[in-house]
Amino acid sequence: MKKWKQSIVFLGVLLSLSVTCPGQSSKGVGGKLKAYFVDVEGGQATLFVTPAGQSLLVDTGWGGNEGRDTERIEAAMKDAGLSKIDYVLITHYHEDHVGGVISLLEKVPVGAFIDHGPNREDDPAGEQRYSAYEKVAAQKGVKRILARPGDVLPIVGMKAVVVSSDGNLIRHPLESGATTNPFCKGGESRPADATENARSVGIEITFGKLKMLDLGDLTWDKEMELVCPVNKLGKVDVYIVSHHGWNHSSSPALVNAIGARVAIMDNGAKKGGSTSVLDTIADAPGMETMWQLHFSEEGGPEHNAEEEYLANLQGGEDGHFLELTSMGDGSFDVLNSRTGETKHYEGAASAIH
Ligand SMILES: [Zn+2]
Repeated sequence: MKKWKQSIVFLGVLLSLSVTCPGQSSKGVGGKLKAYFVDVEGGQATLFVTPAGQSLLVDTGWGGNEGRDTERIEAAMKDAGLSKIDYVLITHYHEDHVGGVISLLEKVPVGAFIDHGPNREDDPAGEQRYSAYEKVAAQKGVKRILARPGDVLPIVGMKAVVVSSDGNLIRHPLESGATTNPFCKGGESRPADATENARSVGIEITFGKLKMLDLGDLTWDKEMELVCPVNKLGKVDVYIVSHHGWNHSSSPALVNAIGARVAIMDNGAKKGGSTSVLDTIADAPGMETMWQLHFSEEGGPEHNAEEEYLANLQGGEDGHFLELTSMGDGSFDVLNSRTGETKHYEGAASAIH
């Protein structure tokens, strides 16, 4: 594209953003996409901030603990210059994902929720969590958006496509030219999961040349449907490891097929981080670095990532986060807040894609 044309397109984008984002709450992040992997001790709370200043929080961590997880989310918001969160996506209604929602709403203005619809798990505690969520959303007047496979989330500044929701999956590959997935051969099939995990809202995010996959706690049986016999997800650069790295997810058929360069696991010291998953990820084709929020006690020194890629060490002070910054040209950085060190990844030309 000619330079002047680029400038006009760029100006057009700026104008449309200023029109579509009144009351923008962030200082913006200078043309970059940021993702904060907040340490909620084996739950999920992942905050995306787009260059348009919009924000998407995937899950709210645990409840209780005197609002610990909300405070950690607020620390990430402060770093990003946010005073509100535009969208909070609730992947499913387990305590480590929706538990923090009441405490969050007490302290943080939220624009809208995105979820898969009603709780589907036959469990009184789950029913209680769901009705508490429904109630607090209604009380605060926060609208709920139902996610369906194939939907593009309304967030401005990145593209987030729903690939799974309420047990339903995209039916067609996201990209044309998808072929048979060789990693399905001999892959283990597992019975259908009857919990809320299999209902997780999963998204694939595209920002410029960067792709990231976040499937919440989507289970093995659903993964096999998504990637076998044809890999409908395509290749991604960053795999936000499903289910905290627990071995009920991250089948080799999925992990090998998506060809991620970087994996980021939101495990706790004693939650997720299964040895077999640590190994599957470390051995996946094209994998350059596996980052973890915690040293996994199950994995021990042999199976965990090297210390520099762990946000929280065994027995150390916790609460450290990982932060990914994407430039849009395919290159990106990952910062370990514990060490203050950043690792840079060049654009995808050097990757096996
Ligand atoms: Zn979970």
